[in-house]
Amino acid sequence: MRDLFSLRGNTLSLKTKVRLLRLAARYTPLLELLRLKVRFSNGYRPHDRVSTEFYVWMMKHLYGSPAHRIVWANIFVPSELFWGLGLIPFYPEVGAAAAVGLGLAPKALEWADEMGVPRDLCTFHRVLAGLAGKDLFPQAGAFVVVNFPCTVAGQVLASEAFVRGSPFFTLDLPSSADDEAVDYLTSQLEDVAYRLAEISRMRYSKGRMREAIRLSNQARAYAVEAMELRKATPSPIRGSDMIGHLGMVIYLFGSRYGVEYYRMLRDYIARLRQEGHTEQEHQRHRLYWMHLKPFYQCDLFHLLENERGGVIAFEEHTAVWWEPLNEEEPFRSLARKMISHPSNGPVERRIEKVLKDVEDFRVDGVIHFNHWGCRQSQGALSVIRRRLRQEGIPLLELDGDCADQANFQEGQVRVRLEAFLESL
Ligand code: SF4
Repeated sequence: MRDLFSLRGNTLSLKTKVRLLRLAARYTPLLELLRLKVRFSNGYRPHDRVSTEFYVWMMKHLYGSPAHRIVWANIFVPSELFWGLGLIPFYPEVGAAAAVGLGLAPKALEWADEMGVPRDLCTFHRVLAGLAGKDLFPQAGAFVVVNFPCTVAGQVLASEAFVRGSPFFTLDLPSSADDEAVDYLTSQLEDVAYRLAEISRMRYSKGRMREAIRLSNQARAYAVEAMELRKATPSPIRGSDMIGHLGMVIYLFGSRYGVEYYRMLRDYIARLRQEGHTEQEHQRHRLYWMHLKPFYQCDLFHLLENERGGVIAFEEHTAVWWEPLNEEEPFRSLARKMISHPSNGPVERRIEKVLKDVEDFRVDGVIHFNHWGCRQSQGALSVIRRRLRQEGIPLLELDGDCADQANFQEGQVRVRLEAFLESL
């Protein structure tokens, strides 16, 4: 996307660029041309071509659709809910991460400071607030958030809804996984779905919701196969790249792009394995990556993968953690999916998932990236640290910031990373 819109390299102001983008979204043939360029270009891996096409499609619909068709949500609200209602989801945290990748974070953070956004908030939310404050994000017909595990999102998005005068819905996520808890969340999801249908003036269609669940299950099956294929040694694909594919996990389930994306990814990894190829030649230590990564340009992964042979065999947040959904009970299935998220409920759930992945992917050590301001990922880190130590699993905690390069001490990170890899 960076190449397509050249957001970094010319002298137009950011606001002008977004205006042009909005104009392009209304002038469909231009985006259609971009889509075709991506489809027939050789410069993309097959699954990247699908994700790029998807983002072009999203641009067109987010900036070209009426506000009542667009719903803002935080990343823990399942996308199937929106695709099944015929709505267009916008996950502003993903938008913020994309903006960081495009080099827009310093400006957005400056705007957030001017607006008085507290500096100890998660930086994704500060970037988000800065961009939204300058009206650079799409319009919104309504907002939906889950109150856990990310506790910041509800408050930031509630403020945004308040400023825009938009309806705001909170889903209260229970921590236990018993039937009563599932019932409780199911009825909330049903209520929100009917309210969204009203607001968006889209009639609720059982068939459309069923279709979204069916597509989600198809994508899930391919994603599970891709995950299995990644267990091979040597590791077929680069993990640093896969961490960023979290955006796909958040957006694609329930859409036809999801099925295509995960089928292509599965086929791509299978082909690499069949041909005996790997994306990363130098492989010495297999690692498991917890939480997120810096989305700006930095040398961290060049050092880790190319220089030191560290292999991110798998990462915490791109896993399929849920069971197949039931078309006949879409809301109940989605409730189960949300409740069973490894970061929901007691920290033991997250730890169990990490221990299972460590065993399944036969890793030598774990890296946890401590993103500035994220309480949900670091609040219980001392327990995780102790438990991994008990199991004899080396853990490196890297302090940094996924969005603000100024909070990332590259020299210090290099020293700690090298020492950790030596110790392995
Ligand atoms: S990094 Fe943490 S605080 Fe920030 S959006 Fe993600 S879960 Fe929420």
